[in-house]
Amino acid sequence: MALAALDQVKLLLVCPQCRSALVAGDSAFHCVSAACPYHPADAFPVVGRLPVLVDFERSILRRQDLVGPPRAAGGRLPQLVRGVWKPLNRVAVRNTERLLRLLPGPAPTLLVVGGGTVGNGVAAVYADPRVQVIGFDIAPSAMTQFVADAHQIPLADRSVDAVLVQAVLEHVLDPAQVVSEIHRVLVDGGLVYAETPFLQQVHAGAYDFLRFTASGHRYLFRRFSEIDAGTVAGPGTQLLWSADHLVRGLTQSTTAGRLTRGALFWLRYLDALVPAGYASDNASALYFLGRKRDREMSPKEIVRYYRGAQRPR
Ligand SMILES: [Zn+2]
Repeated sequence: MALAALDQVKLLLVCPQCRSALVAGDSAFHCVSAACPYHPADAFPVVGRLPVLVDFERSILRRQDLVGPPRAAGGRLPQLVRGVWKPLNRVAVRNTERLLRLLPGPAPTLLVVGGGTVGNGVAAVYADPRVQVIGFDIAPSAMTQFVADAHQIPLADRSVDAVLVQAVLEHVLDPAQVVSEIHRVLVDGGLVYAETPFLQQVHAGAYDFLRFTASGHRYLFRRFSEIDAGTVAGPGTQLLWSADHLVRGLTQSTTAGRLTRGALFWLRYLDALVPAGYASDNASALYFLGRKRDREMSPKEIVRYYRGAQRPR
């Protein structure tokens, strides 16, 4: 496991509101700027050993919700059940291996946005002894070094070599702001790998806000050049999940929905038979692998970008 040491990460941290330096204490952090509302000595609490660097004035997170014991690692389903219910994300495996190959230098830093748990298919990032992984999430976890809101990432400009953001951008109120923050904290030419749902049901209840088409996802990363983009899971997976949720709705039973998903698991294998353009138009989730640049994609470029199967009439 190559999580960067907390002391090393502390050198990169800044105030989430004004981006001034921070003063680190044992029980709290605070901003050095006397003009900042987070200047008082107890401004940013330390929970467990992790600083909570949230600009509470601008976040949906509440201070009182974050003061508590660190979250335990999530329980895992038995391997056989897990294989059917939540199979390994092979697209993420392939793409994170590619991301790691593209990362230069002897000890590159990789920031995981929403890194409270290890995402499906991205374990290689944590297993690579060369990579220094920095993680944050909206609650403390053993996999992270600080708590933060992705709309105001408390890291200095150009402080990391790569960013991994998997199944997060649908849960933020302003994904363009989050991607702007990802762009800011990346070094020039830094890499980003994102996976985001397109046609999926609401999950995480009140904390699920948006979906993206392939073009919408590309435009979100308009200040990045594209290395690769495509479908994580296609129309078969989308139909499988829809069947699960239709049955949930008809029966008002999550168990009945899950049983339906178990019985129809084979639908996901149809993904492999659908050509890329059709899959893109009807994807369950999409990915984008890109490199930071200064230039922004123009509105006309994004219209030309469309890679789906539909043709103009
Ligand atoms: Zn400040």
